Amino acid sequence: MKNIPVVMIIFGGSGDLAHRKLYPALFNLYEQGLIHDNFAVIGTARRPWSHEYLREQVSDAVHETHDTVDENDLKEFASHFYYQSHDVTNVEHYETLKKLAQDLDDRYCARGNRLFYMAMAPRFFGTIATHINDQHLTGSGFNRIVVEKPFGHDLASAEKLNKEITASFDEDDIFRIDHYLGKEMVQNIMPMRFTNPLIKNIWSGDYIKNIQVTLAERLGVEARGGYYDTSGALRDMVQNHIFQIITLLAMPEPKDLDSASVHQAKQDLLASMIIPTPEDVKKDFVRGKYLGSDTTFAYKQEPNVDPNSNTETFVAGKVKFAKGPVAGVPIYFRTGKELREKKNRIDIVLKHINNLYGQAHSNNITIEIDPESKIYITINGKRIDQPGIRRENLTYAFSKAEMVKVPDGYERLLHDVFVNDSTNFTHWSELKRYWEFIDAIEDAWQKENEVGKPKVVQYLPYRMGPKEANNIFESLTEHWIYE
Ligand code: NAD
Repeated sequence: MKNIPVVMIIFGGSGDLAHRKLYPALFNLYEQGLIHDNFAVIGTARRPWSHEYLREQVSDAVHETHDTVDENDLKEFASHFYYQSHDVTNVEHYETLKKLAQDLDDRYCARGNRLFYMAMAPRFFGTIATHINDQHLTGSGFNRIVVEKPFGHDLASAEKLNKEITASFDEDDIFRIDHYLGKEMVQNIMPMRFTNPLIKNIWSGDYIKNIQVTLAERLGVEARGGYYDTSGALRDMVQNHIFQIITLLAMPEPKDLDSASVHQAKQDLLASMIIPTPEDVKKDFVRGKYLGSDTTFAYKQEPNVDPNSNTETFVAGKVKFAKGPVAGVPIYFRTGKELREKKNRIDIVLKHINNLYGQAHSNNITIEIDPESKIYITINGKRIDQPGIRRENLTYAFSKAEMVKVPDGYERLLHDVFVNDSTNFTHWSELKRYWEFIDAIEDAWQKENEVGKPKVVQYLPYRMGPKEANNIFESLTEHWIYE
């Protein structure tokens, strides 16, 4: 594998994401030789850490995620890390950072290549981008930036942030990361749709009755109450992960597999996305909040949450496209906290056909994303012991040995950033459409709040959300497949 020369700067080097995801992923890429002799990583944060202390943290992060580690490799890898105490709002600190990056570039022969990673609270993204530009932190080689979610709070703030970032970076060099796009089964949607005649030929409103996307979390808001209360499930999960999954399910087949063709196919689809009216929002969307139990807080009692908050911890809704292979097919989604179990899955519900046996089931296709990775198709056959039809699953799954080899989403996506492949990142034009849709719902909800009639329904923890989510279907014969 190519040894890519680069100086990487991580804003938020003492944070949870850097520790749990970025350092282990970088170590794996180092072991594969993608980054090796000619790289340096600068971790920045406010704390007064030393280079040595950061290196210890990096080693700990690798040990925590790996059963076995070659200690010599790890020591050598960690020696490429440098710490810079840095307050993102202090202009002088960018001068120091620029100087350190230049020194490390000379030392490691990094050819002026820079990779900036925004692994901090989103409210700082704009400030960092502005100072990268003002203080000329970019190098003479490639300059790429990875931006964590959420990218903006609504369309207006996303546009402002985008402007701040594009002052220093071209669209092709901006990697808006959505770690769901690094998941094995999300990356499997396109191959599954486009390599199987059995599936490709039925991918239309003639055969598909509806599509259902469920991203269920078992955990509550935990320590993130303060942030979550300003966001809610719609912004936190639908604006990014759910929309990316829906786009992969509904887009036309791209002309090619390169990044430009895949993004073009996504844009062609999204141009025809139907933005809901306030009446649609009332009818097709449900927002909910979890109640407490003997052992758990209700959402409104969580630390740093406004007790009168209307923020939703659950949302269910519907998306439709006017064009594309599944034009007119309802795509239902739901996501929430404190649901029965952690489960990310997609159900493609096929229409029934008239048949002489009368009682056949629909051929549903299910893609399980987490915690297991598998695809199964329900098919009908004859019963052995008595007349009638029975249902079985045909399953596509991985062995345990294969599963061990599946790289973490962050490792995959960081690899793609190094090799400059933005296929599995969010293009600005996609993000813009997602925000247009989300803003339409948020505006309608805001109006309900303002007239004192917020319809935020309560739900019991550790079930599948509020019963009202069963009422968004277009016909009485539709229901959630995963109950
Ligand atoms: P965190 O709170 O653990 O870390 C934030 C980092 O920013 C720390 O290093 C902190 O020292 C630093 N910081 C805060 N204020 C600063 C300032 N004024 N100047 C300099 N440094 C400052 O947050 P996190 O969980 O690591 O999340 C970072 C980003 O990654 C967020 O955008 C989040 O949405 C995203 N993200 C995190 C995860 C995860 O698993 N943690 C998953 C997906 C996305």
